[in-house]
Amino acid sequence: MQEVLIRSGVNFYRCFHCRLCHNGCPFAGVMEHPPNHLIRLLQLGRLEEALQSNTIWICVGCNACISFCPMAVNIPVLMDTLREMAREKGLPVKEPDVVEFHRQVLAAIRRRGRANELEIMLGYKLKKREWLNDLGLGLKMLAKQKIKLWPTSIRDPQELEPLFEGCEP
Ligand code: SF4
Ligand code: SF4
Repeated sequence: MQEVLIRSGVNFYRCFHCRLCHNGCPFAGVMEHPPNHLIRLLQLGRLEEALQSNTIWICVGCNACISFCPMAVNIPVLMDTLREMAREKGLPVKEPDVVEFHRQVLAAIRRRGRANELEIMLGYKLKKREWLNDLGLGLKMLAKQKIKLWPTSIRDPQELEPLFEGCEP
């Protein structure tokens, strides 16, 4: 628990289980442990359970929970730390598709310094070989110009390279 505290900088012992984060989280219904349950596991020292739950991979970091929390417990940062620790320990990932999606987002940022939705989606589909899933949704997003057809880059993406040193590919 000490390691989680130090690495995340989030004092999860401040949580008194008012459940506001749980009620405000758009994905609580599909999490094995909604946000405040996950915190309870940490408070009880049940780190392995927290690291192996699907919760840490389902969280999208939308920040809804922290905007409700009266104790300012930064749950998205906590989730990031738990994801990193789960990967470092080589624990089984409950939602491997989410890991692949994260890889594609990071690869796109590494290439261009910007995340292009179409590039990320195509990279993800190529890996998963699921070309037709979500096709209708993708076309709708294209039609509404929610997805840019042509990716743009920052002036010198190489400048970002030090940020990625030591990261897994
Ligand atoms: S909103 Fe904050 S204090 Fe309330 S249960 Fe969630 S983390 Fe704990
Ligand atoms: S940041 Fe994660 S835990 Fe918090 S509300 Fe969003 S999805 Fe839920």
